[in-house]
Amino acid sequence: MDASGMAALIERRWPDAPGFVAEARGVMTSLAPVLRSASDLTTDGVLERFCEPERVLMFQVPWRADDGTVRVNRGYRVQFNSALGPYKGGLRFHPEVGLDLFLSLAFEQVLKNSLTGLRLGGAKGGADFEPQGRSDAEVARFCASFMTELHHHIGADVDVPAGDIGVGGREIGYLFGAYKRLVGRFEPGALTGKDPTWGGSLVRREATGYGLVYFVREMLRLQGQELSGKRAVVSGAGKVAIYAMEKLTQLGAGVLACSDRGGALVDPDGIDVAIVKRIKEVERGGLQGYVEARPRARYLPAANVWAQPCDIALPCATQGELDVRDARRLIANGVGLVAEGANLPCSADAIAALRAAGVAFGPGKAANAGGVATSGLEMQQNAAQQAWSFEDVDARLRTIMADIHRRCSEAAARVGQEGDLAVGANVAGFERVARAMLDLGVV
Ligand code: NAP
Repeated sequence: MDASGMAALIERRWPDAPGFVAEARGVMTSLAPVLRSASDLTTDGVLERFCEPERVLMFQVPWRADDGTVRVNRGYRVQFNSALGPYKGGLRFHPEVGLDLFLSLAFEQVLKNSLTGLRLGGAKGGADFEPQGRSDAEVARFCASFMTELHHHIGADVDVPAGDIGVGGREIGYLFGAYKRLVGRFEPGALTGKDPTWGGSLVRREATGYGLVYFVREMLRLQGQELSGKRAVVSGAGKVAIYAMEKLTQLGAGVLACSDRGGALVDPDGIDVAIVKRIKEVERGGLQGYVEARPRARYLPAANVWAQPCDIALPCATQGELDVRDARRLIANGVGLVAEGANLPCSADAIAALRAAGVAFGPGKAANAGGVATSGLEMQQNAAQQAWSFEDVDARLRTIMADIHRRCSEAAARVGQEGDLAVGANVAGFERVARAMLDLGVV
């Protein structure tokens, strides 16, 4: 089967998953040239197997709220491909998730994990649960109930979940505690994003944001430019955004704006990351509180950050947050580089507009792979019962991000699309998985 035949088959198979169909169609378009030139990659049904999730789990999560009432949420885990290693990918707790989104994110994760060069399959999951506004006790009860089902399907050599939107250190702690109780052993390799005092890796918290900036630095290097002196805007104020802003600032770029669900925060003197950390990580509040400490800053309710003039734009909040109108605004304001810290934040027509305008584009599956790569390093430390230093893990992360950039650039050039990192990421990610699938046979 060729790439366009496969895209049509996915559409017939998944009529209720338009997001996944669109995502898979985009990947198939990138793969068409490599499938024509390397015909062994279309044998043994590799393409059909690559596009079909190996397992899709959907389950009930009942839990009791503080007021005594029983609530019922829906849990998911899409285990998409395990040719390269145990399934690996985050858990998201957010009221608007559904199967279509998890299929898209799990498919993206297969390619991303392959690009890291580590032994990681791809998965994604979570629940339509909103942790914001819930007490710690409610979150703990929800996590315990969620794990009561999920523990049957995960494990250090099976499937290793991590955090994502709505799942941070607190949730990973409760999930790991429940897992430990249910399986009756301390198995640190079963979850990543753990606190370093009980099996986590240093730099895991910072890794996606730091890795994104290391990737951006590689993109700029190719253009003979450097980060120092550049103006950046970052959307979001969560785990990815905070540490992207921290690394940008450390490397001499000015961060002029960030955002949260309530609106955009603009600080002409540069965002003070320590204040954002306090508000989001300690107080769990809204960014409007920032202006009390920095009177020259403005908080714009219901606005996004893309109207701010900048050289570098990093969407780090959520899927579909940068559309074609935002892209045109960024282009009109002279943006030179856009790289995705979030998963699938830019719409297809936004990416097309950026490319047509000559803006360098870093796709999420490459640019934000530093988080999962460092989770892979956490798994290695757990298996060896070691704890590496911050400097050691950070140095490995820098190398991994430079390698991912090189793999994407080389693959793009090989299929005649020099400089197109989105095509390169799809080609390089697919080739490694497909070769492993061929080696493992039709099982
Ligand atoms: P997070 O800590 O929950 O932060 C998400 C941030 O985005 C928050 O500031 C949130 O606002 C904001 N946000 C959420 N929904 C929004 C919406 N509809 N409109 C505007 N802003 C919104 O999550 P995260 O871990 O940083 O993840 C962010 C993105 O990066 C996701 O796409 C995730 O899949 C991707 N990613 C994460 C990792 C990782 O290691 N965490 C790795 C790779 C990719 P509030 O502050 O108001 O909640």
